[in-house]
Amino acid sequence: MEKIVENLRKNGFTVTEFDTKEAAADYLTGSLHGKSIGMGGSMTLAALDVYDRLAADNTVYWHQTVPGDDTCIPANNAQVYITSANAVSEEGYILNIDGRGNRVAGTLMKKERVIFVVGQNKLSGPFPEALDRARNIAAPKNAQRLHKKTPCAVDGVCHDCASPDRICNALVVLWKKPSWCENMEVVLIRQDLGY
Ligand code: SF4
Repeated sequence: MEKIVENLRKNGFTVTEFDTKEAAADYLTGSLHGKSIGMGGSMTLAALDVYDRLAADNTVYWHQTVPGDDTCIPANNAQVYITSANAVSEEGYILNIDGRGNRVAGTLMKKERVIFVVGQNKLSGPFPEALDRARNIAAPKNAQRLHKKTPCAVDGVCHDCASPDRICNALVVLWKKPSWCENMEVVLIRQDLGY
């Protein structure tokens, strides 16, 4: 974990570390006031249970609470975007696979702050292992969660399918912090969270 944190920082990402999801949730809600905030689809964010707390003091757009493009589009244009990652590689690269593209777009649009909330289970070895994690662990589990009609939802293994329900249509690898974003931060939690 120390090597990944060091490499994330070398790549221009801010890293904050927490022992528990509760401490991370307190940090997020304590540092965001009066902002427009978009949130990406994420079981990690669901586990942190921060939506209501953030919405008490910010304008929050999260399609897991209010589904639809009327939520996703302003989420992508918000001042702040919060999501998780499918994997973080040993080199300090942040990987996300997306079906519609809204979540990865949210991390790339001009922002004051993009925050990746990452449980320790998302930390991987070198880039090929991180890509393998994203494709063969995170994506099949998300397809199962979303009740997609894909072969991976049946057997938990990626078949690089051609299904209309395929959720793996875009891959974004952040090698370093894109210059359009003022602050890109990894909130790293020493617990297993999400897929
Ligand atoms: S089988 Fe299709 S939807 Fe499932 S992980 Fe592979 S490419 Fe993604």
